[in-house]
Amino acid sequence: MSVAPDVHQAEPIPEAARVAIEELLQSGDLFRYTAPENAPVSLLEAEFAEMIGSRYALAVSSCSAALFLSLKALGLPRDARVLIPGFTFAAVPSSVVHADCVPVLCEVGENYRVDLEDFEAKLDEGISAVIISHMRGHTSDMDAIMALCDARDIPVVEDAAHSLGTTWAGRNIGTIGRIGCFSFQSYKMINAGEGGILITDDAQLAARAVIMSGAYEHNWKKHPVLADAFGKWQNQLPLYNLRMSNLSAVVIRPQLPELNRRVRDGLVNHDYVAARLESSPYIRVPAPLDPERRAPDSIQFNLIDLDDEEIRCFADAAKRRGVSVQVFGQSQDNARAFWNWQFLGEIPELPKTRAMLMRACDVRLPVRLKREELDVIADILLASVTEVTGPVRAYGT
Ligand SMILES: *Cc1c(COP(=O)(O)O)cnc(C)c1O
Repeated sequence: MSVAPDVHQAEPIPEAARVAIEELLQSGDLFRYTAPENAPVSLLEAEFAEMIGSRYALAVSSCSAALFLSLKALGLPRDARVLIPGFTFAAVPSSVVHADCVPVLCEVGENYRVDLEDFEAKLDEGISAVIISHMRGHTSDMDAIMALCDARDIPVVEDAAHSLGTTWAGRNIGTIGRIGCFSFQSYKMINAGEGGILITDDAQLAARAVIMSGAYEHNWKKHPVLADAFGKWQNQLPLYNLRMSNLSAVVIRPQLPELNRRVRDGLVNHDYVAARLESSPYIRVPAPLDPERRAPDSIQFNLIDLDDEEIRCFADAAKRRGVSVQVFGQSQDNARAFWNWQFLGEIPELPKTRAMLMRACDVRLPVRLKREELDVIADILLASVTEVTGPVRAYGT
């Protein structure tokens, strides 16, 4: 069996970024609000809004910052209850805490999507806002979620940090709720090391977020599409200074035209590995929901009929062969296991989510991988299952 590919190495940043970086270094113009117009961050915001199909975009320092600003822009009072999925990255409950709100966790099913029954029940427990985390790009039923929230006039923020390029009934994920948030951290579809962007069609929300992100004094004038919305917010809002630097923007902009290719390659790669893994009766890759077209750069699958010990042996066997498998609920201190969010104080019990986390596996599958490399990963995963279960009996042969 061949050597497993390095799944942490990033794709090179497009050449065009080098030219733009050189110009920036020459001019020293790194701050987004120095140039009178057309600063790289402003251009990125216009291009991203156009690409994703939203009216306004605000580039910030991270997706976590975008989530925090979303809650602030919604004007939630201290201790407002924000419903979030029990399966997400620790940054999500953290952004809620950062905004002085209280995270309320709802169950997530074995297909990694929000459990609608529990969601609906909890929605009526004094919830003021919802963050839906499309975890690893798995999209929850947005039609059902929007219907439930719209009926109660509860705003929905989409955490699409890891879902750029995913569509739901042909619409870009992130454009369905009141606000959408994306990440440009290195392990996401577009890589700037760090960075995030907030999108919305609501001018007032956008204006509030712009000011709080650090458009102090009259810097908001450099968001001309929003000009009319700022009037009443001058000097009324705190400045959290979560701006993006021009340096990040010039790294991101030349990657936008690469997105469609990355999405296409990622999906083909994912589906290829998924089909190979599904040849094992011990592995199940949950299917996407009907309206969903995914943009994966990793694969998640559930181990069936294996106990905790066997699951650990499987992960160890894969590791020995060179493929790192994170079992969300079993790898120590995993930031996606809700019981590790001890900063919340009291952690609710979510039996369905816990059961899922204890057998759900996570394997990185960067979109640049070639078929041979995918085969090495699939071969290793299948061989590791066989190592713990023994060969599958071939009935009737
Ligand atoms: C990466 C990620 C975040 C955090 O993004 P940052 O830009 O690193 O703050 C939040 N939610 C999900 C689902 C993520 O995958």
